[in-house]
Amino acid sequence: MALDFSFTEEQRMLEDSVYKWATTWLEPQMEHAYEIDEMPKDLFKQTGDLGINGIVFEEKYGGAALGYVETLLAYETIARVSNALSMTVGASQTLCFDNFRRNATEEQKLHVLPKSCTGEWIGCLGITEPNAGSDAMGMATKAEKKGDRYIINGSKIFITNGPVADFMVSMPRRIPPRVPRASRPSSSRPPSPRKRVR
Ligand SMILES: Cc1cc2nc3c(=O)[nH]c(=O)nc-3n(C[C@H](O)[C@H](O)[C@H](O)COP(=O)(O)OP(=O)(O)OC[C@H]3O[C@@H](n4cnc5c(N)ncnc54)[C@H](O)[C@@H]3O)c2cc1C
Repeated sequence: MALDFSFTEEQRMLEDSVYKWATTWLEPQMEHAYEIDEMPKDLFKQTGDLGINGIVFEEKYGGAALGYVETLLAYETIARVSNALSMTVGASQTLCFDNFRRNATEEQKLHVLPKSCTGEWIGCLGITEPNAGSDAMGMATKAEKKGDRYIINGSKIFITNGPVADFMVSMPRRIPPRVPRASRPSSSRPPSPRKRVR
């Protein structure tokens, strides 16, 4: 059986509307944007109005409840005008906010995702570190629980949107809370050197 890779009518309409916006609103600004090395100030508000900020997000969060084919079609179409800004949008909406949507509590999602859909908040994903790129599990940034919050210490590099983001999904290592020596079960205490059996 042959697979049908053609786009649906709805997907074609999405591609057309993103292309029209990219060539009329984005393209005329790009030369200046590259000169000053900044993205257009209202980029995320514009993509929010177009309805492509939360393409896969459920409607209750302000999303369009579509799929990843539609998401990539939108990013690919922006990339026809600016590959860099396509990545900027994708890093915020997919790397950061979609990752968050898959892992956060319902209360957290109701607070954060509508702001990502309107473009009020820009997101970023912080994984890479000076000594942890492909080998992401080699990360050294640490999170320590103090009361009702985590204190995070470490460095991240190459974070798309890092300087402009309002919200970050980041990956540190968790330091387990210190248990006072006396309250540790005896089996978890290291054996004293005198009792060590050879
Ligand atoms: C434009 C851009 C945007 C980015 N945005 C983000 C972001 O938003 N958030 C974020 O967290 N990170 C981001 N990054 C970082 C990106 O994820 C890392 O650059 C990537 O993981 C590679 O890490 P590295 O640069 O340290 O290279 P390394 O991991 O040091 O790799 C260097 C070279 O060694 C090769 N190599 C590595 N391991 C192996 C192996 N086991 N076997 C064979 N070859 C190997 C690699 O293929 C590569 O050619 C971004 C990077 C770029 C370039």
